[in-house]
Amino acid sequence: MENIDLTKLQIGQDAPKSTSDPIDHRVLAQLCRAIHIVPEASLRIAMTQLILQDTSAAHTLLQLLGTDAKTQEKKLDQEKKAGQEKKADQEKKAEQEKKQARENALPEETCSLCKKKYDAKSQRVADECRYHPGQAVDVDIPLQPGEFIVGNDYYLNLYPEDYRWTCCGKDGAAEGCRTSTHMKATRRAI
Ligand SMILES: [Zn+2]
Ligand SMILES: [Zn+2]
Repeated sequence: MENIDLTKLQIGQDAPKSTSDPIDHRVLAQLCRAIHIVPEASLRIAMTQLILQDTSAAHTLLQLLGTDAKTQEKKLDQEKKAGQEKKADQEKKAEQEKKQARENALPEETCSLCKKKYDAKSQRVADECRYHPGQAVDVDIPLQPGEFIVGNDYYLNLYPEDYRWTCCGKDGAAEGCRTSTHMKATRRAI
């Protein structure tokens, strides 16, 4: 009966003593299975160690993954750029909306004739404004010739029955005796 040479049999299964030795196909198969089984994180660590220790492995990996890595980097770059452009667009849009809102809020003006607020942006319509061209004078304190009353709106609004308009003789609460379009207030020279 022939003796089995165990030493000879085990040589092929052992890991090669030198890095240049060929690896037994069964060991390679085990390694391939291990690669499929081990967690991805462990594989990444192993791969990193491998390329740091073995220049030829690094070269091989570079050839295998180089294009992929480049494409991936390019893709990430494009995504980042697109994200920045989108953000800039959104900021620009928000700024425009704010500006529009400010402009929409602005057009209220106080009419210098009737003292009412009106939308300065809308089109002016004839007869939209009713006003008295004269002055409201306190009936108890008659106006002297050439005298003007400034800032009596407070009392006029409180006691309109005490006032008479110099233009039409009606009392302080009477609707304007003239019509016009609303006028933008301008500072009156005193
Ligand atoms: Zn009047
Ligand atoms: Zn008016």
